[in-house]
Amino acid sequence: MTAAPAVVGEPALVPGELRGYRQFHLLGDGLYPLVHRASGPWDGRQEEARCASGGDHSCPAADCRCGLYACYRPGSATVALGGANAVIAARGRCILGDRGFRAASARIEAVALPGSVRWRPGAASRIRRLLAERYPDTRVYGSTRRMLREHPPQDVRGLGIMPARDPSRGYRSAAAALWAGFVVAGYSLALLPRGTVAHAGARWWPLVVLVVVVWQAALIWLLGRLMAEQTPDHHGTAQAADPSAGS
Ligand SMILES: [Zn+2]
Repeated sequence: MTAAPAVVGEPALVPGELRGYRQFHLLGDGLYPLVHRASGPWDGRQEEARCASGGDHSCPAADCRCGLYACYRPGSATVALGGANAVIAARGRCILGDRGFRAASARIEAVALPGSVRWRPGAASRIRRLLAERYPDTRVYGSTRRMLREHPPQDVRGLGIMPARDPSRGYRSAAAALWAGFVVAGYSLALLPRGTVAHAGARWWPLVVLVVVVWQAALIWLLGRLMAEQTPDHHGTAQAADPSAGS
């Protein structure tokens, strides 16, 4: 792997593969990049970057935005709903950013089934068959959590990079738990005798209002933090890991 920082200088030569996290669109014939979907599904064994801007150069180029992108940490790279979370292993020329990189070549090490098919056994087994056929070397998981446990982030400090902590997945879990807790509490009230609820409401309404306000504030704060983590500039320069940049 060759690492070329955005600043001018000789690329550093580092042996090995660089692990990254990202999402794909899982369609009927393979795993497509979220942007530049027209470029088709990733190769089943080794995907090679092509310049989507039509540039006549080797990808990734420092003065272009091409290359196969991924983040060093799963956090914000794996929280959007709908996509298939994946772990990739990059090699060849890489341009390193603060949160992620763009690479010349990569393979898909592992992929997790998207939530939309996870609970539909028929669809899940059909997709597992497709993935086994198209991506024979890729491990397929039923849950992102398990995939991340078995494919943890690499320590990239040896490359001179200190990726910032990215608690996006924790924020999302906390927001979901808060929402679910409130919905369950609301339905529980409906099961109580009306007289009891009316009596308790008349007596405790200031507390009820306070709880609702705190709940709303906590939910808004969590969603705000989550959205801030998705902003490319949140941790400083991150063009190298901007999903809109590469494929
Ligand atoms: Zn290019």
